[in-house]
Amino acid sequence: MSEYPNTGLYINGVWRDGSNERLPVVNPASSEVIGNVSNASNNDLDEALAAVSAGFQQWRQVSAFERAKLLRKAAEILRGRSTVIARTMTLEQGKPLAESLAETSTAADIIDWFAEEARRAYGRLIPPRAMNVRQMVVKEPVGPVAAFSPWNFPLNQAVRKVSAALAAGCSIILKGPEETPASCAELVRAFADAGLPAGVLNLVFGIPADISSYLIPHPVIRKISFTGSTAVGKQLASLAGAHMKRVTMELGGHAPAIVFDDADVDLAVRILSGAKFRNAGQVCVAPTRFLVQQGVYERFLEGFVKAAEAIKVGDGLMDGVNMGPLANARRVEAMEALTADAVSHGASIATGGKRLGNRGNFVQPTILTGVPQDARIANEEPFGPIALVSAFADYDAAILETNRLPYGLAAYAYTKSAKTSAALARDIESGMLSINQHGLALPELPFGGVKDSGYGSEGGTEAMESYFNTKLVTEAT
Ligand code: NAD
Repeated sequence: MSEYPNTGLYINGVWRDGSNERLPVVNPASSEVIGNVSNASNNDLDEALAAVSAGFQQWRQVSAFERAKLLRKAAEILRGRSTVIARTMTLEQGKPLAESLAETSTAADIIDWFAEEARRAYGRLIPPRAMNVRQMVVKEPVGPVAAFSPWNFPLNQAVRKVSAALAAGCSIILKGPEETPASCAELVRAFADAGLPAGVLNLVFGIPADISSYLIPHPVIRKISFTGSTAVGKQLASLAGAHMKRVTMELGGHAPAIVFDDADVDLAVRILSGAKFRNAGQVCVAPTRFLVQQGVYERFLEGFVKAAEAIKVGDGLMDGVNMGPLANARRVEAMEALTADAVSHGASIATGGKRLGNRGNFVQPTILTGVPQDARIANEEPFGPIALVSAFADYDAAILETNRLPYGLAAYAYTKSAKTSAALARDIESGMLSINQHGLALPELPFGGVKDSGYGSEGGTEAMESYFNTKLVTEAT
């Protein structure tokens, strides 16, 4: 399709090709190659490293006030281009156009929020033990960052890293998602067009393992931020650890959604089905294990199945489509394998379970019941439109299942009891808990997990903290 732009590397303020052979980009709704993306060699990475190093020396001296102004300008540019960017995103990633538009607008809001935070990077004065001593705690940018962002939210996984880094005064090399490069490149273009000095933000694509193994150990890089699977996150965190680099890891999840007997069941069905099938379930905080108390199990399941069957699956550019294709063929294979495994372990398919058509990566919204704990999907993140629904007897049983897995990213609960809510807030092992609403991922809220879901935060003031060093300066006058 001619309207889909090919994507280059952005190194030291110049858009250019990489030295390796370009990689194809496929439209997941048609399985057709629609364009390509540049592929960086180590020589290209060396240039990016030199640029990000010089860029840091320049950017750290720009006042927070000026950094904030530039970030806000980039946000405005992004908003002004949202219609075109959203279309590009749907072409390469598959999500419905309305979701792509919402993502673009949220990306601009995230930049604005970090622009404001840039101006609030306060230090502290600590009361001294002697009157002539001054003790000052100063926040300094940690240095050049290497960030790795995935394909499920091509803009929003990247913008959190880029905006927080730039707001803090860091320079950054972003390794964008090769499968969805063009919308991510538009984020970088917005900053470039807002006047960001050359070298401060660089964008590369290529073979992910080659790039991470080259950038992470490199002495220029001082901080790593990665969003992706737990397996890859563990590899990158070990590499970063071997080189004593600061790390933020936003990894997989297997979110529980607990619906108690006293819940507003219609509300739970409406919000949780929306959250499950948004972006075809390729969301790290998507609810996966639906734990429903026995008294409302049948009612919830009936409503949930009805909601899933009402979803119109199709090309995200078409009117009325609520769920697009999966972003790549690997996810379709994964859905088929996980469903077959669950059924072979005795699970039942309440709805869905099949691939749709033989062109594009379409699968049905799927709900499984009676999934035993030894089925793969009861333990592995599906990262797709499959939900597991099971009944529980009492609070303790729900908590036991909730905390069973090594993951701990998001959790959801529906109850009208303040006592139950308070107990959940205490007992659930997760980085985020949303009760009676879907209230995650706003720019001002911390966003991150515990246990195998990673560490550090991609939102809120906590996200800024990870781009700062704390320096103590004490002097006798
Ligand atoms: P994958 O594990 O191969 O890749 C996941 C992401 O990590 C991709 O963006 C990929 O480019 C990147 N990556 C892979 N190996 C890397 C390396 N050595 N160095 C740097 N980056 C590397 O899996 P996939 O098939 O692309 O995605 C499926 C799985 O990834 C899902 O099961 C899900 O758990 C996870 N995922 C999570 C998120 C998230 O938002 N947390 C986003 C995308 C994918």
